[in-house]
This record gives sequence, C-alpha cells and structure tokens, in this order.
Amino acid sequence: MNRAAQELTGLAAEGRLYPSVILHGGEAKERLALASRIARALLCEREPDVRPCGACKHCRRIDLEADKVFHPDFVFVRRDPKKRETVIPVDKVRTLLQTAQVSPFEARGQVFVIVEAETLHPAGANVLLKTLEEPADRSPRNFLLLASSANELLPTLRSRSLTVYLGAGDAAGDDDEDLVADLVELWRQRPGDDAFALWVSALAGRLVQGGGFEDIRARQCWTRIAGALATAAPALDDRADRAAALALSADLLDAHRLRQRSIQPHRIIQGLAARRLRRDRPETGFESSVNELIGPP
Ligand SMILES: [Zn+2]
Repeated sequence: MNRAAQELTGLAAEGRLYPSVILHGGEAKERLALASRIARALLCEREPDVRPCGACKHCRRIDLEADKVFHPDFVFVRRDPKKRETVIPVDKVRTLLQTAQVSPFEARGQVFVIVEAETLHPAGANVLLKTLEEPADRSPRNFLLLASSANELLPTLRSRSLTVYLGAGDAAGDDDEDLVADLVELWRQRPGDDAFALWVSALAGRLVQGGGFEDIRARQCWTRIAGALATAAPALDDRADRAAALALSADLLDAHRLRQRSIQPHRIIQGLAARRLRRDRPETGFESSVNELIGPP
C-alpha cells in the first residue's frame, strides 16, 4: 500500500475523509482494493485506531474485488459489460442516489462507489454532482469515484472532490515502439492504391484490439495511436505525408469523441479514410467532413 493509500485509510478510520474522493491512476484492481479498504475503514465498528478490523460484521461484507458486497449501507455501481453497456446508465445512478437520501440502516454512515466513473453517462454525472453539492447535514456520506484518469471526469465533479493519484499503473505500453514502426510503414503506402484499404483495415484492427470501439471508455487506445502517429510524423520523407500524419493524429482524438457520442465505428473509419484521401485540413471539423463525405447518419 503506498503512502496516499495509507493516509486515505487513516482519514477514513478517523471519520475525517473528504466527502467525495476520486481515486485514479494505478491498476483497476488496485483501485478496487483501496476503495474496499476505505469503505471498511469508514463503516467498521471497532475503535478508530484498528479500523478496518477486517472481521466485524461491516468489514466482512465489503469486498469489491470479489464483487461481494452484502451491506445495505455500501452501494456501488458499474457498467455491466455482459449487458453490453458501454456507459453507466443514468437509472443506475438515480437508484444509487435514492439510497443516499435515506439514513444508514446499520452502520454509522454510508459509502457509495462508482467504478469506472469515466463511463458515467453525462446525465448521470450531473445528478451525482447535484447530490455532492447538497450539504451533508446527517450521518456521514462518502463517495468514491474510481477512474483510470481523473482528466476523463467532468471538471465540475473534479472540483467537488479530492483527487488522489495512485501511480502510473497499467497506463504505459511497452509496445509503443512497435506501434510507431507499424504505423510509419503503413503510412508510406500512397493513398488511392490498394495498400490504402489495407492501411484503413489495419488501423481499424488496432482500435478493435485495444477495445477502442466496443469500449467507449478505452480512450487510452485512441490516444496511444494518435500519440504514436505524432511521434512517427517527423520520420516521414514526404512533407505532405508529415502534415497528413499530424492531421490524422488530431482526427483520431476527435474520432474518439464521436465514438463516445455513439457514432458507429464504420462511419468513423470511413470518415478517417475519406479525410485522408481528400487531404482535408485539420481546421475542417472531423464531424462536418464525415457528414459531408459519407452523408448524415
Ligand atoms: Zn471492522
């Protein structure tokens, strides 16, 4: 457990934890483990210096890592990949917040955890924000928002929360160099020939592999490819290619925003291809060229 984790657990045990905490960075498992530990420290029935005891009726019923939670005062939401949810539906957030409106059943307070908070539907994030803005005049109520990066949460949520970074974790990729080399190689193929179709399908393949299409939260995959392209650009021989590589890099970041708004992947890839063939300048908005080139959805 790192120092930030220890401090947070200590504050929780003493009942001095800030009402809304964002845990970001580190690995997903670490975030779940720490959220469980903080929740136990907040609800544990032993005296503050031994919280979380791990053995009392509260501690034993909270284990986010094992997905085991049978505590009426501990509520968590996450998107359900089995139901092909790409975002946390607003209804789930509303249900969670209803619990926040009543007094605790058993423990001295309540704990609410939002797993993959970056996948909150924007409407859900806004209702959550309203609750955070309400003064806590009753028993303690703590919110823990887990995210790979706090930057993916609404600025208004961030400003209402204490943000704690858990380290680089799984964000860094070892195979970035390979990715750059592959992209440079693919990019050397001239547009308009058969190789271009290959290039587009390879790019689409990369994004699918990284979960970039199905999993809207997988921003990392899009940004990594965009970053690799920007890195690769100066190595290209042709000046026009260099400009095009940088333009595509910018497009990929926009493309991810379109995907977040549920624009279909095939439209996005078609749009990327069409823009490259037409050599659209980056100032032309990605979405407007997509609509212009391949028609409205
Ligand atoms: Zn306990």
